[in-house]
Amino acid sequence: MHLSRRGFLLGTSLLAVRPALAAGDRTIRLRLLETSDLHMFVANYDYYHDKQDDTVGLSKVATLIALARGEARNSLLFDNGDIIQGSPLGDYIAQDGHLKQGETHPMFAAMNLLRYDAATLGNHEFNFGLSFLDLSLAGAKFPFVCANLDHVDGRSYVPPFLVLKREFTAEDGSRHTLRIGVIGFVPPQIMEWDRTHLAGKVRTTDIVEAARKHVPVLQRQCDVLVALSHSGIDTSPAKTGFENASFHLAEVPGIDVIFTGHSHRVFPGPDYAGRPGVDAARGTLAGIPAVMPGFWGSHLGLIDLVLTEQSGAWRVAEFNVEARPVYRREAGRVKSLTGVDTAVIAAIAPAHQATIDWVEQPVGQVAYSLNSYFSMLGSEPSLGVVNAAQTWYTAELVKDGKYASLPILSAAAPFKAGGLSPDSYVDIPPGPVALRQVADLYVYANTLVVVKITGAQVAEWLERSCGVFNQIDPAKGETVVQPLLRKSVPTYNFDVISGITYRIDLTQPERYDGGGKLLNANTHRVVDLRFDGKPINPAQEFLVVTNNYRSDGGGSFPGLDGSNVVLRAPDLNRDAVQRYLEAKGTLQEAPPPTWSFLPPSSPVTLSFAANERFGELIAGRSDITRIGQGLDGFTDYALRLG
Ligand code: MN
Ligand code: MG
Repeated sequence: MHLSRRGFLLGTSLLAVRPALAAGDRTIRLRLLETSDLHMFVANYDYYHDKQDDTVGLSKVATLIALARGEARNSLLFDNGDIIQGSPLGDYIAQDGHLKQGETHPMFAAMNLLRYDAATLGNHEFNFGLSFLDLSLAGAKFPFVCANLDHVDGRSYVPPFLVLKREFTAEDGSRHTLRIGVIGFVPPQIMEWDRTHLAGKVRTTDIVEAARKHVPVLQRQCDVLVALSHSGIDTSPAKTGFENASFHLAEVPGIDVIFTGHSHRVFPGPDYAGRPGVDAARGTLAGIPAVMPGFWGSHLGLIDLVLTEQSGAWRVAEFNVEARPVYRREAGRVKSLTGVDTAVIAAIAPAHQATIDWVEQPVGQVAYSLNSYFSMLGSEPSLGVVNAAQTWYTAELVKDGKYASLPILSAAAPFKAGGLSPDSYVDIPPGPVALRQVADLYVYANTLVVVKITGAQVAEWLERSCGVFNQIDPAKGETVVQPLLRKSVPTYNFDVISGITYRIDLTQPERYDGGGKLLNANTHRVVDLRFDGKPINPAQEFLVVTNNYRSDGGGSFPGLDGSNVVLRAPDLNRDAVQRYLEAKGTLQEAPPPTWSFLPPSSPVTLSFAANERFGELIAGRSDITRIGQGLDGFTDYALRLG
């Protein structure tokens, strides 16, 4: 029989890698479960808005875990990192003296109850420094692995991999001890993102390089090899130091299963459809079963394996991949799909209550509304206040030093501007502002950093920011709706810089690509850039206040690689906002506007997603109209520009 090359390859791979089940084969069904990016969300509770939230919480995933375990004869449970930082509960516990030697970190108290088998470290584990991480890890009753993180003296920070020996029951009732190899990976970028905490103490290596080194060693010691990859899925050609390396990890021979995370998305699922080598329906990367379970406890990842024994060796004969949600949206409303595990909630109860009391403290007042609904549409006060606070904080810090004569600009991005969830907005009404609302305004535990750059570099910074927008074609006219935002670009990479004014010309192609590479050297989206009312002098030096993520290379902004940092503040950006509010008492007037869209030569209609609450806020605006129900609980709106 003649076989096409494709048919031949397919046939061989099925025979060689996935032998079909034959009658009489001894088989074991093994269910592997994953949580990832829990970020200190344990209760089904929203600390920022002081209300129940059925889209989050390990306590909800715990009921799915119990169900999934009940359905399977054999199972293992893993966590994929980004554990100890995220919700205000994480910030509360990380404060001086709140976790004492010998005490168990509340997150690990909760996770210990669920009897995890192993875990890896996420990038956010390092946000509070290594001594706090060590103190926290001491309370975990399950092992951690990470193959691409070492102390500077060469010792691994936690073991690169381990082998779990577990007894499983085969389909014929016989018992077998299998060796499950578990290897972990963290984005090597932690050395940039948490440079202050990590420089001179630890070092990272490339994920795929570390896998090529360790997987062959581990493979000889185990029957099934599981990779815990705190890294997303990027199918563009591999390059050293890849942040989202899970796809290329799947190409390393010897790995049977990949648990992914870090990108806070769901896989299998439409987010990754159509990428070469990715089966977004079945859940495979380069043919290897893989799952990503959302974030904050939104999903449980499951990979079911059918293992067969052939001449003493166990092989993966079949698999099935699922990401099980704890909720779904029906007509924009959250419908909970699971209850909460009260024992898990009880494990964090004292810390949970202490956090609620802590975040309820009032820190100041605003006379106007601070919300992030308009962050992607033009200058608005919620980012304006963050920038004003950062400028105020920095002015105090530099006033007697050698940079005192330089003008201070400030950069801030809307962390919560819709993005992955229609509930993810800041919405602070006029009146007293509680600490929880400050945390909402600035959700990340970034530290404040000041860089010294030129006017020309300020312009390039803003050009990179504008990669969040699609190029708009004015020739399409008003009747064709053009999407404003590129869904693949997170809003946290849209920095708005204050202290200057500028306009954004959406009709131009982006100047930089997503990796910060110059794409179109002759085009500019940022126009009419002014300082002090006059066109900015490209040679003039400025201080720009930002955070450690951006200053040290996060988001790949041109020229920002840590080399132009002149000041690393001892405080979080969020602390600067808190102190600003405390110092001002009441913020009476919104900060002056910074940017707006340049109206195109002829009117265009731009679409974007928000929620129903946004619909209330646009009453009286003739340039924005509601289109209708969108995807995933969003509501679609249209902006008329020009
Ligand atoms: Mn994360
Ligand atoms: Mg992460």
